[in-house]
Amino acid sequence: MVASEVRALFAVASRPEIVSLAGGMPAVDALPLDAVASTVADLVTSRGPVALQYGSAQGDPELRARICDVMAMEGIADAHPDNVVVTVGSQQALDLLTRVFIDPGDVVLTEGPTYVTAINTFAAYQARVVHISMDNDGLVPDALRETLSRLAVEGARVKLLYTVPTFQNPAGITLTAPRRAEVLDICRRAGVLVVEDNPYGLLSFAGEPVRAMRADAPDDVVYLGSFSKTLAPGMRVGWALAPQPVAARLVLAAESAILSHSMFTQLAVERYLATQPWPEQIKAFREMYRDRRDAMLRTLAETMPPGTTWTRPEGGFFVWLTLPDGVDAKAMLPRAIAARVAYVPGTGFYADGSGRNAMRLSYCFPPPERIQDGVKRLADVLRAEILL
Ligand code: PMP
Repeated sequence: MVASEVRALFAVASRPEIVSLAGGMPAVDALPLDAVASTVADLVTSRGPVALQYGSAQGDPELRARICDVMAMEGIADAHPDNVVVTVGSQQALDLLTRVFIDPGDVVLTEGPTYVTAINTFAAYQARVVHISMDNDGLVPDALRETLSRLAVEGARVKLLYTVPTFQNPAGITLTAPRRAEVLDICRRAGVLVVEDNPYGLLSFAGEPVRAMRADAPDDVVYLGSFSKTLAPGMRVGWALAPQPVAARLVLAAESAILSHSMFTQLAVERYLATQPWPEQIKAFREMYRDRRDAMLRTLAETMPPGTTWTRPEGGFFVWLTLPDGVDAKAMLPRAIAARVAYVPGTGFYADGSGRNAMRLSYCFPPPERIQDGVKRLADVLRAEILL
């Protein structure tokens, strides 16, 4: 395990004068805190002894039933609470799943670029991460086929395809419906389990949630979900929906990792969903993030020098910016920080050193005017860099 090279710069990036387009922090200040406070107070008064006691490693049954209702919003109609394991954020689900499936040297396929902490988790269990290229329609099925054939010739053991198919972190891209079917078919034939990580699925700017891959492949997909982006990451409540034999092993792994998830935060989430207008809250988040996305795309179009390209997310938190050839985003970062704007260099999202001339920009946290200022500063830095 290695520390992130840019972590020191992130500490600097949190200074108030710097517009941070780096972190992926949800805008929790948009939550009605009085509603959270009354939910928690009510929980302690009415169910204190349960909320403050140990629970099971699989998670609270009422919450698991409610999680099934949440997944139904994305077309997953047949989820059973027995197949749900509540985890400490979806991050823990990913960790447990990796622990259960991966022996050193096993291959995990991922999009390139992919979620940085997933790469770190796979590395911690000594998996070999192999990237599959993406275009604006998401993971490229032909590239997946070719990689699988190459790895078969090598005799590699390919265990998992880890994908963030909807409003991807970091690229903001969504895998199209025909490609979802094709990717599922390829993986089924190859005997590769698909891990669908979907923390952003309900944050669709069009309003309609995107249909989950799991909805059409209950036996071939482990679905990871989270309340971090639709409620609050501080609750640390996420989950895995898995075929029964996999769910049973995740519960065993969870027992050894944490004994029991926090009953307190599980029941707080359950009660919040039961008593507060949560769908309205999601709608408010969607509208807020859409305005911020619009501010970012508009300012990019107005200010970026020729040769720079970027993705146009339909939901979620992130834009992926590709710089003109020869510009190194990591080398440029100290100059961007000096100009009071921060981003994450693209190399962090690859296991193989790719992504030098790319970066992730997030629009989730700063308000639109700050995003506009930040993108303008970034464009100035980039223009100076091209002249270097
Ligand atoms: N997967 C992806 C793709 C994410 O972007 C994140 C959060 N940044 C997570 C998983 C982890 O979320 P959680 O807070 O539920 O652990």
